[in-house]
Amino acid sequence: MPQDYEIVIGLEAHVHLSTKSKAFCASSTQFGAAPNTCTDPVTLALPGTLPVANRVMVEYGIMLGLATKCEIRRSNRFARKHYFYPDLPKGYQISQFDEPICERGSMTIRTAESSRVIGIKRIHMEEDAGKNIHDPHCGASYLDLNRAGVPLLEVVSEPDLRSPAEAVAYLRTLRQLVRFLGISDGNMEEGSLRCDANISLRPRGEMSFGTRTEIKNINSFRFVEKALEYETVRQIKLLKSGRSVVQETLLFDSQTGTTHPMRDKEESSDYRYFPDPDLPPLRIPESWIEEVRSKMPKLPEQRYHDLMTVYGLNAYDAGVLTAEREYVDYFEEVFNHCSNAKSACNWITTEVFAKLRKQGSNQPQDVVKAAHLGSLIRLIDQEVISGKMAKNVFEEMTSSGRDPKEIVEKQGLKQITSEGDLKTMIVNVLERHSQQVGEYLAGNQRVVGFLVGQVMKASSGSANPKMVNQLLQKELDLIKQKNKDS
Ligand code: ADP
Ligand code: MG
Repeated sequence: MPQDYEIVIGLEAHVHLSTKSKAFCASSTQFGAAPNTCTDPVTLALPGTLPVANRVMVEYGIMLGLATKCEIRRSNRFARKHYFYPDLPKGYQISQFDEPICERGSMTIRTAESSRVIGIKRIHMEEDAGKNIHDPHCGASYLDLNRAGVPLLEVVSEPDLRSPAEAVAYLRTLRQLVRFLGISDGNMEEGSLRCDANISLRPRGEMSFGTRTEIKNINSFRFVEKALEYETVRQIKLLKSGRSVVQETLLFDSQTGTTHPMRDKEESSDYRYFPDPDLPPLRIPESWIEEVRSKMPKLPEQRYHDLMTVYGLNAYDAGVLTAEREYVDYFEEVFNHCSNAKSACNWITTEVFAKLRKQGSNQPQDVVKAAHLGSLIRLIDQEVISGKMAKNVFEEMTSSGRDPKEIVEKQGLKQITSEGDLKTMIVNVLERHSQQVGEYLAGNQRVVGFLVGQVMKASSGSANPKMVNQLLQKELDLIKQKNKDS
């Protein structure tokens, strides 16, 4: 870590929206479809076609703006951003420039050490470009325009992040937020979440920012951290040797873990931004904003706090359960069936998560129904079965999908809680282990544990251990008394 320099990072994140149709036409946004099957005259920019803004895209923009405490611009505008590349059939990308839909918000991030508020400068809507695929064998290039025109939100942070780890925490928080809102799957591998990272250094205590570089198009959390760490070291070396950082656009090479200057780099003026005359200014009345607000689900931050204050879980558990909306939804449903928050949390984060990891899924309902897990926990709490038996019942539940009550009944797994039955077993065990009983009478307390173990063994693990402890102690006390009397 640089002692004498402070790291300054600002991220531009691109979030693919999970609308059914594209930003300005009716083509499907389906991921992984056969090349060029999700296209139409607008996507292909055929002469005479006109764009129409997707209402759901705008609603998702408002939603993310509200969730990040942004001001929603009552009147905002689409702009043309020009550049020449085969993946952009119109010769310009429809984006927003000086009148974005959202401005001046913030997002709270939590790292191991602290929780910090990071400023959001703006959020704007834009369309994605297509994809060029180069075949090095035959030297040909192919073009897939399925992705051209898919709606994106670009979320631009203030330069408030102070380490590569914070940059990752910020991106994770954004991913969590869009997933809870249901406006994007936030999947970095599929390119639903990508980011450009801006980074500069300044001497500690200095108020003004240093010269920054921008690393383009990073598509994994690990690469964000690696690229920023590499860039920190590179810039420190330059500054320490008395040279200066050149403001430039870089690409991260994940093979070598290094950054390299990108060849053509455009300045904002090179894009010749101007308002798109084909799209009227977008007016957003207060009533629309309120309508969107009323459709918004509870935010992860709120649910994190609820888990601690309403359910009494600790911060660590609350963090784990709110990593995905499916987890916290599932937790609440399990709780509704057993009213035991700590147990529900333990079962989910150990047994259920272990199964999820094996299945490579994040849908706990696919492992066991929440109602079934809740009723398993009730069976333990009511001492019908022991915790150990419950593990076996759980295995059976995951393989057969059956209700735990049914499993317990069919397999005769019920815990033995009848005092009479337990007493018979205890008396038998004490008769068979008269030597240990003798040791106990001579003052050796430790043999009690051994005797409890023998009773549990005799019951094949189905005796209620708490009752065995109590009843055994009672029997031993009786023997002691008799011994004294005689
Ligand atoms: P531009 O208009 O040139 O794209 P912006 O002001 O919109 O620049 O900033 C783009 C991104 O760069 C933002 O995320 C911002 O936080 C970040 N940024 C700006 N200046 C710096 C700096 N000196 N060091 C690190 N990041 C910066
Ligand atoms: Mg920029």
